[in-house]
Amino acid sequence: MTDQQERSTTRRAATMDKVVALAKRRGFVFPGSEIYGGLANTWDYGPLGVELKNNIKQLWWKTFVQTRRDMLGLDAGILMHPRVWEASGHVVNFNDPLVDCKTCKARFRADDLVERHLHIADASAKTPDELSALIREANLPCPNCGNRTLTDARQFNMMFQTTIGPVSETGTQVYLRPETAQGIFVQYKNILNSQRVKLPFGIGQIGKAFRNEITPGNFIFRVLELEQMEIEYFVKAAESATAFEEWLTAMRGWIELIGLRPEHIRVREHAKEELSHYSMRTCDFEYLFPGPMGWKELYGLANRTDFDLRSHQEASGEDLTYFEQETKTRFLPHVVEPTFGVERTFLTVLLDAYDEEATTDVNGKAETRTVLRFVPRLAPVKAAVLPLAKKPELTSVAWQLFERLQCEVSPQVDYDEQANIGKRYRRQDEIGTPFCVTVDFDTLEDRAVTIRDRDTMSQVRIPLDDVPAYLSERIR
Ligand code: ATP
Repeated sequence: MTDQQERSTTRRAATMDKVVALAKRRGFVFPGSEIYGGLANTWDYGPLGVELKNNIKQLWWKTFVQTRRDMLGLDAGILMHPRVWEASGHVVNFNDPLVDCKTCKARFRADDLVERHLHIADASAKTPDELSALIREANLPCPNCGNRTLTDARQFNMMFQTTIGPVSETGTQVYLRPETAQGIFVQYKNILNSQRVKLPFGIGQIGKAFRNEITPGNFIFRVLELEQMEIEYFVKAAESATAFEEWLTAMRGWIELIGLRPEHIRVREHAKEELSHYSMRTCDFEYLFPGPMGWKELYGLANRTDFDLRSHQEASGEDLTYFEQETKTRFLPHVVEPTFGVERTFLTVLLDAYDEEATTDVNGKAETRTVLRFVPRLAPVKAAVLPLAKKPELTSVAWQLFERLQCEVSPQVDYDEQANIGKRYRRQDEIGTPFCVTVDFDTLEDRAVTIRDRDTMSQVRIPLDDVPAYLSERIR
């Protein structure tokens, strides 16, 4: 049985509250602007959070861009010409259905109200009229003040606007991009002209996007400022259905790579009425969040046809066709788009890594061990070097080993000489460090150290010189 399968059969220890508390306590994620009372739905990533986030992004980049011959990278700007968003359909279509309470002025997403309070699944597939009818029929009270004074649902555009130049009539109104995808379409021609690429090929990008979301909270599931890892994969029209299937498989492979539990993942095909204006086929990878959240979108895969290139070609007047040497024909490629949210990856990795285990402390007393069982490649700290006591003869050996591991294994290695060894192990368990290397008094005699495995707590004695190879083999 693999580690992954073994974990699949265990009960789920994570709740959103426990994970939010651990994330703050151990320096993964902090509420944004907290000393000023916070700013709703903004979060900052602490010292361990930024390492985990970077590990996710680097692994994604390596998996989907650097190691594939059919993929290229891009880093487009957040600010783009406002006409981009007219052509893409965002100015007209990028809306959420909102209802207001006439009494207390609170504002809610209509689909969320219907899902939570009327227990109707997939309400996001319903039109604002359908949602309004359901809310009216049920005479739903405002979840905030209890008065039955909710308005009908109306569409609210989710793009943030800002102004370039003086904030007056002379300034240019622009949007903070709500997705990274359009940067790829707008630069597609420059990439064709500057690189020797042939269909099929893809362009990958990681970057910030901004959405003016009205949300029910749920930690970093839905934030205003998010990061996306997106791919636009260009193919001939006749090959888009096959490419879609190939990307379904590649996305499943990624989910396995980051250690999410198979029983928490399902693929949901969008019904015809639910498809976005640009999509011929869409599948959502959904994750089973703990508690009332239940199944929610983690990633998306869409067949965008030639909608985007055609729209930008028409709006800009630039020829965006692809010339195929073999057939001497020109055409607009079709596009398959796998899209991954960084925050949702981070959150689901944390939720699935979180475990509590009944154990005993060094004195044999019963206690509960909290452990983050990250796959080693994602762990923000790969190994910790711990001198058994704060004695110069031990700390000097331990420090030398620490410096060597940072150089030869990974810069994500920790050194800790504070508190007793039991407490240090617990701390490393809580931040998900796969290996603890202890330098003890025997080390001075036998030039060997003890390596403790986070998941099994088993210990092996390894010669000092073999430690880098031992760890490298298990981490990479
Ligand atoms: P939802 O239905 O949850 O609003 P969406 O269908 O609008 O999501 P997409 O536009 O397909 O999402 O965005 C691509 C990916 O970006 C999503 O699969 C998700 O991982 C991530 N994402 C989208 N909006 C947010 C957000 N507000 N906060 C965090 N991640 C997000």
